[in-house]
Amino acid sequence: MSISVRQIDETKPLEVALHQFDQAASFLKLQEGLRQVLRTGHRELTVHFPVAMDDGSTRMFTGYRVQHSISRGPGKGGIRYHPNVDLDEVRALAAWMSWKCGVMNIPFGGAKGGVQCNPKELSLAELERMTRRFTWEIAPLIGPDQDIPAPDVYTNAQTMAWIMDTYSMFKGHTVTGVVTGKPIEIGGSLGRESATAQGCVYAVRESFRHMGMDLEESTAAVQGFGNAGYHAARLLSEMGVRVVAVSDSSGGAFNSEGLDVQALKEWKAEMGTVAGAAGTDEITNAELLELPVDVLVPAAMEGQITGHNADRVRARIVAEAANGPTTPSADEILYDKGVFVVPDILANGGGVTVSYFEWVQNTQKLFWNEADINQKLDSIMTRAFHEVLDIAQKERVPMRTAAYILGVGRVANAKKLRGVFP
Ligand code: NAD
Repeated sequence: MSISVRQIDETKPLEVALHQFDQAASFLKLQEGLRQVLRTGHRELTVHFPVAMDDGSTRMFTGYRVQHSISRGPGKGGIRYHPNVDLDEVRALAAWMSWKCGVMNIPFGGAKGGVQCNPKELSLAELERMTRRFTWEIAPLIGPDQDIPAPDVYTNAQTMAWIMDTYSMFKGHTVTGVVTGKPIEIGGSLGRESATAQGCVYAVRESFRHMGMDLEESTAAVQGFGNAGYHAARLLSEMGVRVVAVSDSSGGAFNSEGLDVQALKEWKAEMGTVAGAAGTDEITNAELLELPVDVLVPAAMEGQITGHNADRVRARIVAEAANGPTTPSADEILYDKGVFVVPDILANGGGVTVSYFEWVQNTQKLFWNEADINQKLDSIMTRAFHEVLDIAQKERVPMRTAAYILGVGRVANAKKLRGVFP
């Protein structure tokens, strides 16, 4: 039985994730037991651990690793460092990873992790000690055949290098395949850094084709200017799209003639934000979402397009580089307005796809070139996009519902085939 959108608290990612799952489960007529298995998830570890701070004090941190499903392969999903991280958010993000790996049809389950902290207040040395201790705490759960972390909000290739090194110390030998998104020098994959955005841009290209729109004439706004957002803005402008606005947690930059994305990156590296860059007007995150652009790319946090502002979204395409940026009530409004939403579990699936390539290269001890990687990513992304679009058209449902039908369907089928142990 599906729950009405009005009964859920949309500020809670887990309620949103369960609502989205319930809709797909009803459509797929999943049997009650299977539904409970997939609703509940598989394994959850909460750890409280001390970290020696630079000033000589000791501080306690709380972190999580959740494996939602391992039916289709090892758990896979990023590690987030953010003050809002809690068990429910990690549960939601882990479930989204299961469905995403299902949509992309790569042989991974879904997992996610996080530490509740404000990384902006920690020195590099404190971040390293926190990362290493957290890795030690979750080491029994992770591994190249068990569960493979990757970067997420406020973690990056350096974080992955520390995790890989700590895990390797734990094992007594180098284990490159325990994480993806590593630096190239220690087993990272070419193309991984920009993979989430690259996949998203391939999905935008297919959306334009589907809608008969011309990329060259078009405009875009991108919320978030980190890994997903910066590369999305860069790749869109390289493709000829006029990127008129970008933002980060401190504010945004707007120029109706188009922004110089590289100059903004340099400005942010110096000033810590894109706001205030030469030749741009300041814009708030809320205003950016309501700009009259062809493509809006949310690439920051959950719950940005809601029942309160969806009616004012004027983009024709919303391509969700972020996880969970649109709430279910916003989805209804956008669908009624004819906005074409490419949902997160499809639009940002490029990240986990190239993570899969990195893991395969680590396992096989060989390396592919960047052109091969992007060509393989393009073909997986394009296939997934059209599989979802075909379901959306055949069943007359929004792209998100179609993606859930595909992703949840594949995970449910794997679980059904494997059966219930013992
Ligand atoms: P990141 O840490 O590299 O960048 C996050 C960006 O969001 C920063 O520019 C930050 O200033 C901005 N931000 C934070 N809070 C904000 C707010 N309230 N309003 C506006 N901007 C805000 O993180 P990322 O890896 O780019 O992740 C961004 C989103 O993409 C997340 O939802 C993440 O789960 C999703 N995602 C990332 C990957 C990946 O490979 N990194 C893969 C799939 C999905």
